[in-house]
Amino acid sequence: MNQQPLYQNLTAENDFREMQVLVVDDDPRMLESVKHLLENHRYSATIAGGGAQACQELLKTQFDLLLLDLNLDDISGYDVMNFMNDNSIKTPVIVISGNSSFASASKAIQMGALDYIKKPYDPEELLVTIKNTTTKKQLEEINTKMQRQLKKSEALHRYIVNNSPDIICVLDHEGRIIFINAKVEKFLEYKQHELIGKLYSEIVNAEDIERLHFFVKEKILHNPGDCKPDKIEVRLVPKGSCSQCRFVELTLFPVELNSLGFRPKKRVTSREKLFGIYAIAHDITERNEAKEYINFQACHDLLTKLPNRAFFENRGRLAIGRATQNKCIVAVMFLDLDRFKIINDSLGHAMGDRLLQSVTQRLGACLRKHDTLSRFGADEFMLLLPEISTRENAEIVASKIIDIMHEPFMLGGQEIFVDASIGISVFPGNGETIERLIQNAEIAMYNAKGRGKKRVQFFDNKMNISSSNRLVLERDLRRALKNNEFEICYQPQIAIDTGRIIGFEALIRWNHPEKGKIRPCEFIPVAEETKLIEDLGEWVLGNACCEVREWIKKGYDRIRLSVNISPMQIEDPRFVEKFLHILNICDFPGRNMEIELTESILMTDLERMAQILNQLHKQSITVAIDDFGIGYSSLSYIQKLPIHTLKIDQSFMQSIQSETDESCLVNAILAMGKGLKLNTVAEGVETMAQIKYLQNMGCDAVQGYYFGEPRSGEKCFNLLTETTFVTA
Ligand code: C2E
Ligand code: MG
Ligand code: MG
Repeated sequence: MNQQPLYQNLTAENDFREMQVLVVDDDPRMLESVKHLLENHRYSATIAGGGAQACQELLKTQFDLLLLDLNLDDISGYDVMNFMNDNSIKTPVIVISGNSSFASASKAIQMGALDYIKKPYDPEELLVTIKNTTTKKQLEEINTKMQRQLKKSEALHRYIVNNSPDIICVLDHEGRIIFINAKVEKFLEYKQHELIGKLYSEIVNAEDIERLHFFVKEKILHNPGDCKPDKIEVRLVPKGSCSQCRFVELTLFPVELNSLGFRPKKRVTSREKLFGIYAIAHDITERNEAKEYINFQACHDLLTKLPNRAFFENRGRLAIGRATQNKCIVAVMFLDLDRFKIINDSLGHAMGDRLLQSVTQRLGACLRKHDTLSRFGADEFMLLLPEISTRENAEIVASKIIDIMHEPFMLGGQEIFVDASIGISVFPGNGETIERLIQNAEIAMYNAKGRGKKRVQFFDNKMNISSSNRLVLERDLRRALKNNEFEICYQPQIAIDTGRIIGFEALIRWNHPEKGKIRPCEFIPVAEETKLIEDLGEWVLGNACCEVREWIKKGYDRIRLSVNISPMQIEDPRFVEKFLHILNICDFPGRNMEIELTESILMTDLERMAQILNQLHKQSITVAIDDFGIGYSSLSYIQKLPIHTLKIDQSFMQSIQSETDESCLVNAILAMGKGLKLNTVAEGVETMAQIKYLQNMGCDAVQGYYFGEPRSGEKCFNLLTETTFVTA
């Protein structure tokens, strides 16, 4: 491989070398004396006694000089010169001849000899002549070599510059491009020649030009003689500007244009230095995009691309400032979706995400230019309306939102219903800071939910005092729902004859992050009071359905899921519709579902109850009366309603101490159940004696701690696959 250095030192000094001279004469004394003279002056001398020998030597070696006698014994000096012409030997020739005639000298010069010296020669004269000739030759040689090296080195530089990953560019004193490398073709889609002579501002983004001008003037050209390279980030515009701007980091430094061989049109005195700029543009588009993405992430919700809380609060602060000056109103809306949780849990998070995106789109359609919509958490959205003139304006927007949210969403071929509740606080009046306004809008929103969903509620200062305690619990409950603090335990119901599990009752549990496990009797009343029970009930139904559906699919297709329904849920005019909707999205068969209602609900509005239960009955859903026997004496309703199961309240079990005890009430209930052809399930069974007694009296099924405390779905499924209880 050629190991020559790519770039050689171009100084000539090293290139002077010992010159090789061929001396040709038929006089041996002459040969000796010239050889001696030459060697004394650091030439290397070769001698030839005749023309033929001279020709041989010339073929062998490339001499730097030939000292040639014309009259030789064999062939003449002219013949030697002819031989050299024929063989393209370019060695310079100095003739040393005894023949001093003009004719012979002129002939020799015509044939290419450089000089003609008469014999006997004057050593001084000979040396001077030799020196002139060889030096000229040497300089020519050096020159050719330098030219060659320059070409090589220029090619190398051109290669380096054009293949640089960066754009390299030189600007003249007016900011016109006088050089730009080939990189620009790929980077900005310009041909190099298209940019030569153009002002740099033509390829810089309009918004960055002023900053760049200033930077060049103040930093780079202010004191060009003493300026270090400096950097600035700008955007360059590709040709036609259809493609996106490229972010570059420009490194700029002044260059003296004369030193680059630049001849300006402007007249400059010899002492005046003209400065241009050497610029390197390094592509940082990707780096900037990454930076932008990180910035975006820091203040946006990535799912919906909406501003997050921090961003919203900033906007809010500005809005409050402006409203104070302009004497106008700012409205802050807290918007919470009413059925999101259940959809998210039952249809899966991917679907939940799509729903949130669709909701965002719809909300976006209600906004004006300066409004800010933000997502705070799961299904909580905030809306900032700056500079409105009256509260009514906010109410109009809120009502519009309620309306558009009411339309079903089509997701994955299914119609999904979600509603929104909105709380509104306004500045001035409901708080001086954005934080307080958000808090009060949230309180107003809870209030809206408490008064029935799909509502708009303005904040009222009274809300703060009267409801703070309940609000804390309510807020805790809502957070719990969003943070998945609830779980479902199941309690098996066992057929008394076979010991087989025939169904499970779903019982809710709250794993409070600080207070630990909380039993339903502690929070269900609050949930009912605040109407949160609707969400909670839907959550239990959806989750239990999804879990038990899997067991059914695994072959336990007769297993029954019992779900407790609160009176509050039944009061909702759309109870049946919502209930069936959840079964539908969970793909849960109606015949595997039993709802548990207490006597008190059943008796309130018989006609309406009949309607509801018949609708459910059509879907093969069965109805159990929970805690039967403790409340009401009138039993006539049982005949009027499609009831299937009586669940004997657990309080009756305490009276059964042994197999043979006479527990009148239990006997009576069981007899009545049989008479009405209802299934009977005894709750709160804790002993074998109770089981035996119930079996003797014809009770169909039992449920209670005798078979263990209510447990997780997973454990229950294991029970289902592994256990048959001994009941008799
Ligand atoms: P319930 O529907 O009558 O449920 C039976 C309750 O008796 C459950 O209490 C259960 O743990 C308890 N239990 C079961 N076997 C025994 C036993 O052998 N001995 C004793 N002493 N207790 C037994 P839990 O889970 O605390 O639920 C209390 C009530 O809360 C339930 O009474 C039901 O009315 C209500 N509840 C539970 N989950 C839900 C729900 O998801 N929605 C609604 N609306 N109410 C629910
Ligand atoms: Mg129950
Ligand atoms: Mg009960």
